[in-house]
Amino acid sequence: MNLLKIKALDAITKQRNGIISIGEEIFRHPELGYKEHNTSTLVKQVWENLGLENITGVGFTGWKGYLKEKESKTNTKTDKNYEDAKNLKNNTNSPITIAIMGELDAVISPKHPFADKDTGAAHACGHHAQIAAMIGCAIGLSAVKDALDGNVCFLATPAEEYIELGYRSQLKKDGHITYYGGKQQMIAEGVFDDIDMALMVHSETNQSSPHISINSHSTGFIGKNIRFLGKEAHAGGAPWDGVNALNAATLAISAIHAQRETFRDCDSVRVHPIITKGGDLVNTVPSEVIMESYVRAASIEAMKAANTKVNRAIKGASYAIGTNVQIIDSAGYLPLMQNPGLSKLFSDNAAGLLPNVTVEENLPFCGSTDAGDLSYLIPVIQPTISGFSGDLHSCDFQVDDEELAYLVPAKLMAMTVIDLLTNNAIIAKEIRKTSPRREKEDYILLWDTLLQE
Ligand SMILES: [Zn+2]
Repeated sequence: MNLLKIKALDAITKQRNGIISIGEEIFRHPELGYKEHNTSTLVKQVWENLGLENITGVGFTGWKGYLKEKESKTNTKTDKNYEDAKNLKNNTNSPITIAIMGELDAVISPKHPFADKDTGAAHACGHHAQIAAMIGCAIGLSAVKDALDGNVCFLATPAEEYIELGYRSQLKKDGHITYYGGKQQMIAEGVFDDIDMALMVHSETNQSSPHISINSHSTGFIGKNIRFLGKEAHAGGAPWDGVNALNAATLAISAIHAQRETFRDCDSVRVHPIITKGGDLVNTVPSEVIMESYVRAASIEAMKAANTKVNRAIKGASYAIGTNVQIIDSAGYLPLMQNPGLSKLFSDNAAGLLPNVTVEENLPFCGSTDAGDLSYLIPVIQPTISGFSGDLHSCDFQVDDEELAYLVPAKLMAMTVIDLLTNNAIIAKEIRKTSPRREKEDYILLWDTLLQE
């Protein structure tokens, strides 16, 4: 193994207990998206102790910090800086900046043994371990930073779970955020304008020996809020005077079901509506019924095509019953497309570090993540690593191998960065050249177009 990697791994191993205790501390104090104030403060304190540079608040509750002082690339708060950064990115020889990400937020799982009693928040998706791994990686790379031909940026990212939309829509109204997903918000803020590629890891459960999945793709989705508006009437005395919004909603669900045979297997379309308000009073014809849904699919084209069919089904059902209907589509997440070059480096390092590891490639995953939105812009990987038991998002989820959950991901990300940023960063520059970036304006336009209907 090359000497820089040995030095970085030694530094991580020396801080083993500290890294694990950060992970455990966060596991015991879960916070929901855009409310991760204590977790965020903890991260900032650790970063300051590590001597990270230019630590700035981003994405409402997140942080961005650099391994080395920033030189020519600048954060793009002003138009002038943004133009400079854009010109630099177009120059194939410009310095490389790699982001290492960790997600701050928990999910809701009230029966989890470490769930927050008031909010039901619990780290049942392993994001606490991501933060520990990101910090571990920062420790490893700090030990070799002078030998790196490029910079590394660390990002504590908020609100990956797409939940509590009421709270988030209030944050939106109050001008704190534009997007519900943390990385989406950070894209819009320009946080990734100076980043060339990004790495993170995710937990994986119930493997009997060390297991890593690389290069998996996930679905993207459009979020939907649907309101059927009919007319109240006495349900027994004069139902003929009413217009039943619940009938329109159930008919819409049936019409959506009738579309399913037209969804292609390869598109992994998932439509799963729920009724969140079914009426007001049992003896009154329902005049307002509210339905929520996601329309998920494996590609942007398939998301769009399926959403058109779903909207047609909803409008057709509404027309049949004579209600009015409001459909509000919101930006969900884009499908995750992982970068094969980065995936290969990561799995080669895994094979070097863990002789008994099993690596699987290209497994489909029908969940969604805001790392998908980032993968639309720049090369991204989010390999999953075992070390956890129970089910994701469930009360039995926990760490069952501290080494795999907290330390191995830190080591593998550090080793991958060393591959990318040595020898004049030749590998990183090649990846950047072969996967040209899209700009945040293209991203914002894409969502605007998708939601136009
Ligand atoms: Zn997760």
